[in-house]
Amino acid sequence: MARPAVPLSGYTTLRLGGPAARFVAAGAAEDVAAAVRAADGRGERVLVLGGGSNLVVADEGFDGTVVQVANTGSKIDSLGDGRVALTVEAGEDWDAVVCRTVEAGLGGLECLSGIPGSVGATPVQNVGAYGVEIAELLISVDLYDRAAGEIRTLAAEELGLGYRTSVLKGTERAVVLRVRFELADGGMSAPIRYTELARVLGVRQGKQVPVEQARQAVLELRRGKGMVLDAADHDTWSVGSFFTNPIVLKQDLGGVLSRIAARVGADVPVPQYPAGVGKSKLSAAWLIERAGFAKGYTGADGRVSLSGKHTLALTNRGSASTEDLLSLAREIRDGVRVAFGVDLQPEPVLVGCTL
Ligand SMILES: Cc1cc2nc3c(=O)[nH]c(=O)nc-3n(C[C@H](O)[C@H](O)[C@H](O)COP(=O)(O)OP(=O)(O)OC[C@H]3O[C@@H](n4cnc5c(N)ncnc54)[C@H](O)[C@@H]3O)c2cc1C
Repeated sequence: MARPAVPLSGYTTLRLGGPAARFVAAGAAEDVAAAVRAADGRGERVLVLGGGSNLVVADEGFDGTVVQVANTGSKIDSLGDGRVALTVEAGEDWDAVVCRTVEAGLGGLECLSGIPGSVGATPVQNVGAYGVEIAELLISVDLYDRAAGEIRTLAAEELGLGYRTSVLKGTERAVVLRVRFELADGGMSAPIRYTELARVLGVRQGKQVPVEQARQAVLELRRGKGMVLDAADHDTWSVGSFFTNPIVLKQDLGGVLSRIAARVGADVPVPQYPAGVGKSKLSAAWLIERAGFAKGYTGADGRVSLSGKHTLALTNRGSASTEDLLSLAREIRDGVRVAFGVDLQPEPVLVGCTL
């Protein structure tokens, strides 16, 4: 049953967003597909909602139908050779699933511990953290293809998974109903790649550790950065990182590095990482800080601020509006552009609003 005028602030981790004209909670994959099909048939706009942890919804709300993906359940099948296939319904809570795999001694997802949201959203932006991305573990997804009006299975390779993106992100194409991952069953983590995590675990990069140890270390690191949801801590009233790390083309890199050197000094090392042929990835957090926005920087009379624990998280201090948040985001984006000539791009999906 569709409910009218449901405030979306109750369904986003930012606790922001005006009302949805219609709201349908769908508890089975077939119900999700049916709700989207029906709304499409009526010519209404559809917003597919998981945990609301990567959504910035306008204060005016959403004038179509919100379909909340709430189907649950999972199963494990052996693939032989110490590998298993984990199939999970899209509405399951992501971290609860990671926790269960760790308890079962399955390796692969442990570095993605503590990320909020639903399972179905993880392929949408190719969720990643601490050196691991969904793309490395994904076998396939079952999805409702809205143009074809049918449920299909797509292999991971067909999803165009890239840095925090896929062919599904920000599009109206399809709704993920079910996700399949390939995991290892030896009780050990995937090789630890992330420098900070390896240091905390006391191992060299590339080594494996017991899965539970990796999960606890990741959770501890994330809590220190306000990256694990905690209703009592406004530093976690966010969408996680608001901006992606900018990718700069080789021909533009010299100019950007000269601007950085002019501002912060030629002797200051600039964090940069290879990002494919002729491209480098810079650190958005580093650029934001060097452009003059420190952790805890406030905007809109203190109603919004950068998290006190993480420069990339824009947070609602309790009484903010979406417009307050977007003003701060624009100030930061413009500040970085003026300082270094780099355009920061938002990571979350903006609904009914723009930067
Ligand atoms: C504190 C915090 C920390 C975070 N840390 C990380 C991190 O380390 N790494 C990272 O990658 N992200 C991180 N995020 C962002 C966010 O948690 C992920 O992007 C998450 O996968 C979003 O899931 P969700 O269910 O909340 O999606 P929602 O916010 O509900 O939706 C996001 C987008 O996906 C679409 N969508 C949702 N479900 C489906 C579906 N079943 N089928 C099709 N489309 C769908 C929505 O329509 C929307 O466009 C963080 C967020 C917060 C608040």
